[in-house]
Parts: sequence; C-alpha cells; structure tokens
Amino acid sequence: MVNTKTTLLGLIGYPIGHSYSPLLHNSALRRLGLNYVYLAFSVKPGELADAVAGIRSLNIRGVNVTIPYKEEIISLLDKIDPLAERVGAVNTIVNDEGILKGYNTDVIGIKRMIEEDAGFMIEEKNVVIVGAGGAARAVGVAVCESGAAGITIINRTHKKAKLLADFLEKTYSNLSIGYVELSVDQYYNVIKEADLLIDTTPIGMAPEIKVSPVIEPQALHRDLLVIDLVYNPAETVLLKAARDVNASGLNGEGMLLYQGIESFKLWTGHEPEVTKWKEILKKRKNF
Ligand code: NAP
Repeated sequence: MVNTKTTLLGLIGYPIGHSYSPLLHNSALRRLGLNYVYLAFSVKPGELADAVAGIRSLNIRGVNVTIPYKEEIISLLDKIDPLAERVGAVNTIVNDEGILKGYNTDVIGIKRMIEEDAGFMIEEKNVVIVGAGGAARAVGVAVCESGAAGITIINRTHKKAKLLADFLEKTYSNLSIGYVELSVDQYYNVIKEADLLIDTTPIGMAPEIKVSPVIEPQALHRDLLVIDLVYNPAETVLLKAARDVNASGLNGEGMLLYQGIESFKLWTGHEPEVTKWKEILKKRKNF
C-alpha cells in the first residue's frame, strides 16, 4: 500500500522502455513487505543535472542509472565508490540524507554470473572480450580483478579497442592486454587459445537475431566457456555455435539479475530471491 511513508526508488536513462528493472524490483519489494516503490524515469539528453537535483529534493532513496548516463553522472555526485571509480561508470546511486554516492554493481553482477552460474574460476585464465564499449569496460575490470592471466579485446573499431586496452593496462599494471580487429584472420587463433570468451556487443540481439560476432564458428572449441551478454533471445547464434562444438555457454541474464540484487541490497539492506526473479523473467516473452 502506497502511503506518506513510502520510499521512492527508480531508474534513470534514455530510452528506458526496454527495462525489466521496475518489474523485478517492485516484485521483490512486495514479497519482502518493504514500503518502497520503484519507477522508471525517462531523462532526456541535457536534463541529467535536473534529474539529479530531483533525487536530492524529492529524497529519492536510490536509483539505477542506465545508458547513456553511466559516465556523465559521475561529476554530479558527492562520493564515488572506489570500484565505480576504477570502472569510470556508475549504475547505482544511494542517497544518504542528501549525500549521493555512486556505485558500480555491473562488475559484481558479471563476476557472480561467471563464478556462480557457470562455475568458472577466472584466475589464471586467458580471456577474450568481444566489443570495447561500456559493458566491455565493466567486463574488463571484473576479469582483471579476478586475476585473469591475459586478456585480448576483439573489436570492430581498432581505436576503441586500444583505448580500452590502455585503460586496463594502466589500472592493472601487472597484466598485458592485447587487442585485434573483428576479422576472422585476426581473431581465429586468439579464440582457439582462450578459456573464456565474453561477447559484449549487441550483435545477435532481438530483433536482429540471425547474426553473430564470431562469423567463423570453427574458432570456438569445447574447452571454451562462451558468455553472451545479450539475453534476448535466450540462445543467440553465438551460443548455438558454442553448443554445436560442445562448449559451455551462458547468456547475460545472470548479469542483469545480480547487478539488480546488489543495487537492491545497497538501498534496502535486504536481498531479493534470485530464483523468484528468474521465474519472472522466464514468464516474459522471448525468455
Ligand atoms: P556500447 O558502449 O555502445 O558498445 C557496443 C560495442 O559493440 C562497441 O564496441 C561496438 O563496436 C560493438 N558493436 C556494436 N554493433 C556492432 C556491429 N554491428 N558490428 C561490430 N561491432 C559492433 O554498448 P554497451 O553499453 O557496451 O552494451 C553492449 C551490449 O551489452 C548491449 O546491447 C546489451 O546487449 C549488453 N549488455 C547486457 C547487460 C546485461 O545485464 N546482461 C548489461 C549491459 C549491456 P565499435 O567500437 O566498433 O563501435
């Protein structure tokens, strides 16, 4: 029951129509009997500072931050958690009596998905990251912090791959980070020697479901764990190709769930049941 004591949570981004966060968070709030509501706010370009002022003045307890504001929001906050500082992106804000602190729960979400859902230990493994955008940056930090032996970034735009490699090498000076372009002759041997491949591009995401970032499926092998951050469809062309060579595969649903769970814990001190959230997503179209 919404009343004068109800605390507000939310999501800010643009566009936000695709998000499952209101559904997941409100269901957990109801289940746990917590007097909060979670709403989605579409914040138009140029209006981010006003939205942050609104968080303070309306005493909103916390928000998730999504595309395209994860980096821009940092300069508008009072404090940044060290992990979010290292990633250079904030996806969760906690409002403690007017002091806004930014966190990055995407990194924890990625680690939990790989270690708990796939049962894969990243330490001393060779990792390939496909893509070099915001999600790749969080993945890069997650695998560096988990002690990967080496990382190679495969990306369409050479300059962006180099930027990400330079950033990771500077932050984690003990690691050598390679990068190659998204062409078969450059990535074939890199993937052949890898233990873990994480696709962070939107290639294969609905509605364009017939494409894969790895156009030569023979590059995949049975000792490789393939993770596709895309979760709609549940099995992308890349994950199907992994299955065809008896490699293990996992979509990005775990990251979506675990980053949300970490945000929820920061705001409320309570933990939603991951199995309930999985049930909700399963009932949605395309899952
Ligand atoms: P982004 O910053 O725009 O980066 C996208 C990356 O994909 C870039 O490196 C880009 O290459 C590459 N790319 C895009 N289209 C391509 C194409 N047609 N061919 C080759 N490369 C292409 O986006 P992001 O924030 O990193 O998000 C990327 C995807 O990750 C999202 O679409 C989403 O599916 C997924 N994601 C999932 C979760 C989750 O919870 N599971 C969370 C975050 C993101 P260039 O550098 O050449 O432009």
